[in-house]
Amino acid sequence: LLSPGGEVAATVFAEMSALAARTGAINLGQGFPDVDGPDDVKAAAVAAIQAGVNQYPPGPGIPELRAAVADHQRRRYGLDVDPDTEVLVTTGATEALAASVLALAGPGDEVITLEPFYDAHAAVVALAGATHVPVALAPTPEGFRLDVEALRAAASDRTRIILVNTPHNPTGTVLTRAELEVVAQVARERDAIVVTDEVYEHLTFDGAVHVPVATLPGMAERTLTISSSGKTFSLTGWKIGWVHGPAELVTAARTVKQFLTFVSGAPFQPAIAQALADDETPRALARSLAARRDLLCSGLREAGFDVIVPRGTYFVVADGARLVERLGLTDVEGSPAGGVELCRRLPELAGVVAIPMTAFCRAGSATHERLRTAVRFTFVKQEHVLREAVDRLVALR
Ligand code: PMP
Ligand code: GLN
Repeated sequence: LLSPGGEVAATVFAEMSALAARTGAINLGQGFPDVDGPDDVKAAAVAAIQAGVNQYPPGPGIPELRAAVADHQRRRYGLDVDPDTEVLVTTGATEALAASVLALAGPGDEVITLEPFYDAHAAVVALAGATHVPVALAPTPEGFRLDVEALRAAASDRTRIILVNTPHNPTGTVLTRAELEVVAQVARERDAIVVTDEVYEHLTFDGAVHVPVATLPGMAERTLTISSSGKTFSLTGWKIGWVHGPAELVTAARTVKQFLTFVSGAPFQPAIAQALADDETPRALARSLAARRDLLCSGLREAGFDVIVPRGTYFVVADGARLVERLGLTDVEGSPAGGVELCRRLPELAGVVAIPMTAFCRAGSATHERLRTAVRFTFVKQEHVLREAVDRLVALR
């Protein structure tokens, strides 16, 4: 379990950010913004610290933040959430994922994920001792799409959780209502719970609509919805997230949370409660991200990558096969380099860091093979940083 290359090992983000720091390369690997969130939200946290909000807050989260989450879900999606029994504040979406999966699945249970999967999804399934059953999101002319037949085939009476993520990291796909309806149908048929990671809920482009799983008919009663302030308000280091759903499921996650972190950062909670009333900041972020996506995608194409244009998140998947061939890059055995080798060499060749897509796949899977030469770049960086990165990549020609 705890082996290099295993599902619970040093994260690829830590490795690639360290590589960026060591080489001074532009870090388009780990997804975090280079401009911090709103000044008034930061001021609210400072004020909370100065006002003495520095000791353990309530385990489920402060009432104002739970109420703000419930209000956000009602205002944005028409969901009816009881802030007292149906919301748990967590230390980022990461803890919400861990608490939910550890609470609901164990040895003998199967957890379906969408492959390529965010690395923490695979890790928490392994930590729970459950069986990981990845289902492919396959590249198509319409972007990465859920293989719904593969999902139906992967489900069994042992399926305990279907762990979805929309908008999806690392592919940038926004799952359609039709795709999510298949997820919902399979969950109902197998009496499974959907744990849905919606941290990029507000970061969609070109009119793509985020459909929360809990809004589908009959799903609120079997869905745990996870989100976080990190992406929505560009405050990834604050680690304030939440999970909401039916009281029994949230209570189970809360029981686990007590022994993961006990409680979450006191002074950040009132500040995020305040931020959640603001719908304009995330809208403005999505608009500016769409422009930065276009800048990076056209630059990557010019540099020789084949790009699948994302409609959400702040990541783009680019296939480096043609570039690798043109540059004659090989791995240690002399075969054409894959994404791992390309990402190891890019800092020295071009001064840019990216993440190999195979880091989000299970070794030996069909998706792993399909994405062998693909890499992920983030575009949540200032325009001048993206321009510089693009110039460097284009100069590789
Ligand atoms: N889920 C996904 C899909 C993510 O990309 C991330 C990274 N931010 C997380 C969860 C973790 O979020 P947080 O930083 O709030 O723990
Ligand atoms: N979610 C971010 C990414 O995918 C980073 C989070 C992390 O470093 N674990 O790049």
